[in-house]
Amino acid sequence: MKKLIGAHVSAAGGVENAPLNAFKIGATAFALFTKNQRQWVAKPLSDENITAFKKNCEKYNFQPGQILPHDSYLINPGHPEKTALQKSRDAFLDEMQRCEQLGLDRLNFHPGSHLNQITEEKCISIIAESINIVLEKTKGVTAVIENTAGQGTNIGYAFSQLKKIINQVEDKSRVGVCIDTCHAYSAGYNIKTKEGCKTVFREFDEVVGFSYLKGMHLNDSKKELGLKVDRHDSLGNGTLGLEVFEYIMNDERFNGIPLILETPNEERWADEIQLLKNMQK
Ligand SMILES: [Zn+2]
Ligand SMILES: [Zn+2]
Repeated sequence: MKKLIGAHVSAAGGVENAPLNAFKIGATAFALFTKNQRQWVAKPLSDENITAFKKNCEKYNFQPGQILPHDSYLINPGHPEKTALQKSRDAFLDEMQRCEQLGLDRLNFHPGSHLNQITEEKCISIIAESINIVLEKTKGVTAVIENTAGQGTNIGYAFSQLKKIINQVEDKSRVGVCIDTCHAYSAGYNIKTKEGCKTVFREFDEVVGFSYLKGMHLNDSKKELGLKVDRHDSLGNGTLGLEVFEYIMNDERFNGIPLILETPNEERWADEIQLLKNMQK
């Protein structure tokens, strides 16, 4: 079980359905939202939800390290305005606490946006402070920063920005990163070829370090290199192509972490997982 491969599956009807949905597509990893990702406030997880989730994870052989929950799209932990920032921090903490309740060990989140109101450096400091606050109030859950495509005023499109956030986090044992292949390509990292992958992931290791890598999002891209537009495509259908996924499947540095498809056609997930498994030499 070196490579843990899955998709961001539905948790409709309750979080306990996610492990079942992952099992059905032959996954050995999965991502989920622990609440409706388009709403600020959700009702708390019930004891029934929590018990059933843990039972299903056991039944279908999913350990916490195979699961990469994703936070709500609304949250901006780098928000320049005080009131809005507080709202985001409250929601971020709620997401971390839900993971804690479910016995999960990591939460994948988007670092945030400066909204053209503050500098990138200032935004990075606010994001790090948000992480420090939620880590202080929770136990056992790592905050996993996702790299972005750099769309709009999003922070996190450069490896150096991820590192700058980490540098300002007090508990380095509970901060990590998730690299999304579509976002990296869209942000200008040319991972289209094996040679390109070698260069980019060497840079990632030098700037951030593989020890911080807690998950990957495996997506092809509808948009060309460097356009800073976040549009996922099914594997092999986009501008990125398959070579990067072959590279990842055969590089040990990507072992033992959730490798998650966020590709648009969920009908294809089972086939995409099989395709990835077959790429292993
Ligand atoms: Zn992603
Ligand atoms: Zn994306």
